Amino acid sequence: MTKLIYDFAEGDASQKALLGGKGANLSEMMKLGIPVPPGFTITTQTCNQYLELGKKFTDELWDETKAHIISLEKQTNKTFGGADPLLVSVRSGAPVSMPGMMDTILNLGLNDQTVEALAKKTNNPRFAYDSYRRFIQMFANVVLEIEHHHFEQILRDIKSQKGVREDTDLDAEDWREVALLYKKLVQDFKNIEFPQDPMHQLKYAIEAVFSSWLNPRAIKYRQIYNISDSMGTAVNVQAMVFGNTGERSGTGVLFTRNPSTGTKELFGEFLLNAQGEDVVAGIRTPRSINELQNTMPQVHDQILHLTQKLEAHFHDMQDIEFTIEDERLYVLQTRSGKRSAAASIKIAVDMERENVLDKEEALLRIDPHGLDQLLHPRIADDQVKDVLTTGLPASPGAAVGQVVFSSARAEVMADGGKSVILVRHETSPEDINGMNVAKGILTACGGMTSHAAVVARGMGKPCVSGANDLTVDTENAVAHVGEVTFREGDWISLDGGTGEVMRGQCEMIPAEISTDFEVVLDWAQECSCLTVRTNADTPGDAQKARSFGAQGIGLCRTEHMFFEDDRIGAMREMILAQDEQQRKQALEKLLPFQQSDFEGIFEAMDGYPVNIRLLDPPLHEFLPHKDEDIQALAQRIGTEFETLKQHVLSLHEVNPMLGHRGCRLMVSYPEIARMQTRAIMQAACVMKRKGVVVLPEIMIPLVGVVEELKFLRSEMELVIQEVFATQDMTVPFKIGTMIEVPRACIVADEIAAVADYFSFGTNDLTQMTYGYSRDDVGKFLPEYLNKKFVQKDPFQVLDREGVGRMVSIAVGKGRKVKPQIKIGICGEHGGDPDSIEFFFQQNFDYISCSPYRVPVARIAAAQSYIRKKGN
Ligand code: PEP
Ligand code: MG
Repeated sequence: MTKLIYDFAEGDASQKALLGGKGANLSEMMKLGIPVPPGFTITTQTCNQYLELGKKFTDELWDETKAHIISLEKQTNKTFGGADPLLVSVRSGAPVSMPGMMDTILNLGLNDQTVEALAKKTNNPRFAYDSYRRFIQMFANVVLEIEHHHFEQILRDIKSQKGVREDTDLDAEDWREVALLYKKLVQDFKNIEFPQDPMHQLKYAIEAVFSSWLNPRAIKYRQIYNISDSMGTAVNVQAMVFGNTGERSGTGVLFTRNPSTGTKELFGEFLLNAQGEDVVAGIRTPRSINELQNTMPQVHDQILHLTQKLEAHFHDMQDIEFTIEDERLYVLQTRSGKRSAAASIKIAVDMERENVLDKEEALLRIDPHGLDQLLHPRIADDQVKDVLTTGLPASPGAAVGQVVFSSARAEVMADGGKSVILVRHETSPEDINGMNVAKGILTACGGMTSHAAVVARGMGKPCVSGANDLTVDTENAVAHVGEVTFREGDWISLDGGTGEVMRGQCEMIPAEISTDFEVVLDWAQECSCLTVRTNADTPGDAQKARSFGAQGIGLCRTEHMFFEDDRIGAMREMILAQDEQQRKQALEKLLPFQQSDFEGIFEAMDGYPVNIRLLDPPLHEFLPHKDEDIQALAQRIGTEFETLKQHVLSLHEVNPMLGHRGCRLMVSYPEIARMQTRAIMQAACVMKRKGVVVLPEIMIPLVGVVEELKFLRSEMELVIQEVFATQDMTVPFKIGTMIEVPRACIVADEIAAVADYFSFGTNDLTQMTYGYSRDDVGKFLPEYLNKKFVQKDPFQVLDREGVGRMVSIAVGKGRKVKPQIKIGICGEHGGDPDSIEFFFQQNFDYISCSPYRVPVARIAAAQSYIRKKGN
């Protein structure tokens, strides 16, 4: 029979899929001798079974739960529902951390009798009733779905009746009254008595945690972070320890290193006389962990010692939750800490220097997805900043945007193309959509480990939290800082690295790569066998990409070169030419522009291959469409307006993406291919003469039948020989093809016989394999993602099952005919870490991506290599 529940003493860290991250790590800590309150974990499989059976709590589960409670009673010497009552926490714990997305219940086991017993046992009725009212509220919220604000209203009323401000000012009698009123509220709302039997409380709580796997915010979170829905959540039932027994108790969360900067220091917060969620909820302002040194020095030292032990054991920076009960320390949770991209680099480099990790392990600790934020602009130092207020520097980076006060409005405005900054009193998991679309987040309340701070760091977005001078009136969509008032749409700027909030739009400056980042990139270089090239169309882009470590150009799209003012005229003359003669004349005008562009690019990529693609888009993209522009062009080329208009209309295509473009165009007008080839090769000769090492590659787009490639190749070779003859020199060159039409994948063996290399155009290949228009997919893809018809946007992350299958067919066929054929990719997927892993597995020679994604791609490529080696 399958085991449904594991005691903490039975599991270990390798069982994350079954026990969830929290459960597996609690087990591991127990093995390490870390003080962990005892407990047990109900497996993720059990959760999935419960959901699959239509939410059925089976007899087997009931029996196993009872048996484990009995064992827990023995371990703690307490009784569930007895005179020395055992109380437990019930927490979710998925295999992948999903902070705040699912539910937790504390102090379960309290009822009208056990609360009295607890009061007597601890000689602390205030603590007992405070714990009871917390439990009633959490249980009522999670299990009975009564919203928190009803309870909070009761608490506010009591406080105002008693004339006190803080929760800590209420005494035992007050809390007893609160608990009574809370129970009455449950009775009024649900027409039931608050459940008194601890075993029943436990069953309901377990069911609620199972079901929270399917709550909308958890589903949304999984969508954003590409977490599979099939994992399920484990449930951890753990003996309670209490941080709210008085001033010698407390609770806190900490990171073993600073998660914003990566600096090696304890970073966290605690509250005395507080329980569980008080620290992260942002209701009371917590104190810095460093202050614990004064309050309870020996506990502080113990924490310091434990953090080192945990880091050394787990080989990673940890995020720890702890409780101090009467000066005794307990660790309730440890997990790998979420960190900013900058911190992830620094921590990897530091831990390698400290010999905690070797280079390869350190590289694997870096999440490549967020790294490009380091390459994003920051606020320029030298400008006069109208600083309105300074909050906590909760997540680094800078953002400029328009103020918006709700998640829903943030989505609407972002959909309308606006950059928004979400401003909230504090955020909660319901704000996940708004945070996802916002450029930055600002909150009035909450500390460095508040929801806003943790989620923003995970998302790699700038966040300023705890800006205490700020008051936010969400209902009326208005905020104030002193005399200054903001309304929706007002511009502000945030600096998540300093905590500053500025009025207006600050000037931003480009990012630079830190020395630590360079160290990591050097490691990546040592570890990878997949070359990273860049997609660059200008010498400037090529230079930038080279500074990021690109080793060549994988795609130079030549069409962009024709849009500049001095060129588009000649381009249009070429397109509208009446005969070949006129077309050649126009092309002659374009040739010098092209040649000088290519010279610049060859120079920037001295010593590295430069892969230039011949003209790809349909002609009508270059043509004027407005009457006034057609008129101007008619004058320029000396034609009648009407004649020209007719000509323009005749070039219009119903479906240009599948129309007269790419090699099809050049088959009709080979003089275009000839001119471009001439420009490329003349540029190559000129630069070679200047001492530059040139390695030109010329690529033909959109090939679907091998004849297209044969025809164009022979045209191009004639031109190349002519150039060599007139220049009296030669340069090594290659002629290759893009593989981006499904048919090309199927006949890749024929194509390989004529091509020196393949470069996969996965943008078009995705478009044509799915039959989803690249330009219009936004109209239905969100629905497809919601309905789980597709798991990820296939234009961002390569669809391995369909498009990937096409790719591997083509690779197999190509290599069969020409084993040494060079294979690369230049679609957008070349910068996506998950897709890079796939290309690596297919033994590609190189990947190519936009300049700012080159560092990310280098690290992702190295990680793929290390992972493969480890398998
Ligand atoms: C592609 O289709 O993947 C590609 C790189 O070409 P483009 O995006 O220019 O069509
Ligand atoms: Mg393409």
